[in-house]
Amino acid sequence: MSPFSDSPGSLAVDNVRTLAPYVPGKPIEELERELGIRNIIKLASNENPFGPSPAAIEAMRRAVSDTWLYPDGSGHVLRHKLAAKLGVAPNQITLGNGSNDALVLLAEAFLKPGLEAVYSQYAFAVYPIAIQATGATGVAVPALGSEANMHLGHDLAAIARAVNERTRVVFIANPNNPTGTWVTADELQAFVAALPSHVIVALDEAYFEYTVGLPLQNGIDWLEKYPNLVVFRTFSKAYGLAGVRVGYAVSHPTVADMLNRVRQAFNVSVVGLAGAAAALDDTPHVSAAVNVAIAERARLTARLQAGGARVIPSAGNFLLVHVGPKARQKYEDLLRQGVIVRPVANYQLPEHLRVTLGTVEQNDRFLDAWIAC
Ligand SMILES: *Cc1c(COP(=O)(O)O)cnc(C)c1O
Repeated sequence: MSPFSDSPGSLAVDNVRTLAPYVPGKPIEELERELGIRNIIKLASNENPFGPSPAAIEAMRRAVSDTWLYPDGSGHVLRHKLAAKLGVAPNQITLGNGSNDALVLLAEAFLKPGLEAVYSQYAFAVYPIAIQATGATGVAVPALGSEANMHLGHDLAAIARAVNERTRVVFIANPNNPTGTWVTADELQAFVAALPSHVIVALDEAYFEYTVGLPLQNGIDWLEKYPNLVVFRTFSKAYGLAGVRVGYAVSHPTVADMLNRVRQAFNVSVVGLAGAAAALDDTPHVSAAVNVAIAERARLTARLQAGGARVIPSAGNFLLVHVGPKARQKYEDLLRQGVIVRPVANYQLPEHLRVTLGTVEQNDRFLDAWIAC
């Protein structure tokens, strides 16, 4: 008999063996293979349907010829550009392979077995995974109930009550994905100001660009006042660069120093660095995409509500829709019509579907398909 186990994976540490992996949206190619249909639209991963700035595409094309070289591990050009734009110092910025990477770096640097991290029920699925991978204990706090005007949203008072001496990190997504719900600047400030000094607040602002006109805080403006705050941003959503994986954390320099110690030296690619730096300059491109998303957010909400669906208020480029017990069926009916949306049963929301706001034409196709099934 072989001395080796036929399931060597079972040798993994307990907290990894019991991890529930992240469930991504269905790729277009997969649905093409399964159903043999063309002309599929994917409204499942909150990507920006307008894609990146043409200037970013051109910069990435040029960068391809440099891909035999390792990237600048310090991300000097991008960090300095970001710092100038955001009004912070370059040593406050930690680049990540997507903000997912930066969130994981925070967990690695600040959590270990015996410590706790708190997040809301229905919060972004990356937080529990990042927490559990470190061996720390994740504490999920029940979301606001239907009596609250932000049903399914973060209950900041309950989150504050869940904080104890072992708590090292609190994760807040504002707005949250998959719910789209948000906490106001006033609510968040009262919460952050009342936390004990041994707690880091990870404020995930992946959808910050889509919050114009809503009473949300730009967390970066609070960094001087609240040194325990760490703000996460990404190029994956409004900047249309999900495929090249660039995100970042903005923090106190001593926190950035710690994130940098666990960061892989070359975590952002040559192409990603070039694309993100060029994308930053094309503000009109980003604003145009954001304006369409905001107008479409209102239009789709009204149309879905007129059809009898309950739509959760959203500050992001997506809508969470209550469908009822037939949500899975509806998801599959939409697939057969070539429209991929996102089931959220893995978020304990089996009766809801999440729909990314596409172009006007894509959204019309989605609405037609939605009504037809
Ligand atoms: C999409 C998303 C991110 C961004 O992930 P990347 O790794 O930057 O692509 C982060 N947080 C939330 C809440 C998101 O929905």
